[in-house]
Amino acid sequence: MGGGPAGWRSDFEGVAYRYYDLRMNVAPLFSGRREAVAAWHDTIRWWIEPTIRVRFVEAGPEYWLVVGADSRRPEGNVSLFRSMPMSENYERFKRGCGGEAYLRLGTHEVRGLAGSKDDDVCSCGHEGEDHGAGGDDESCLVEGCACARFETVRVTLLHKKKAVTDIAFLPVGSIRDDSLAWNCACAHRLLPGP
Ligand SMILES: [Zn+2]
Ligand SMILES: [Zn+2]
Repeated sequence: MGGGPAGWRSDFEGVAYRYYDLRMNVAPLFSGRREAVAAWHDTIRWWIEPTIRVRFVEAGPEYWLVVGADSRRPEGNVSLFRSMPMSENYERFKRGCGGEAYLRLGTHEVRGLAGSKDDDVCSCGHEGEDHGAGGDDESCLVEGCACARFETVRVTLLHKKKAVTDIAFLPVGSIRDDSLAWNCACAHRLLPGP
């Protein structure tokens, strides 16, 4: 590919994996809709679909999500990078994606009991109506549950998507041969220097 990206953006807060559609979805999550829409219009919409590369670099208890592509607007192009804790959702995606996915962007919104809807489930696994003895007390009332505060995460994905057919899962020790992962590690000083 000609020239590296101008830079990196790591201003997303996490990543969602979804299992509907023809392909699985991998979706970096931004704090709000405004940020997600801006990131799409500034960066992703210019990406040339067959050149999009997604790299998952496994480094102990964490993995790095690295996403890059050639752009029809190369002067402003950036790649995405964020380090995240290993998760069951990630493992499911890895087992199930079959080498391809849709890249989308989304928003990640954390709500308390007051902002929740009937079918929202707390991170403890119990529903809103299981929480809150009254007043400011939002603790979970289910026997044996230690949850002190209702908190639900609402993920919303933008509809726009791009197909990704170049996906690799790499142990951190083997990224030297992968230009995108290697550039990312160097740019962010992720490897111990010689
Ligand atoms: Zn709870
Ligand atoms: Zn609970």
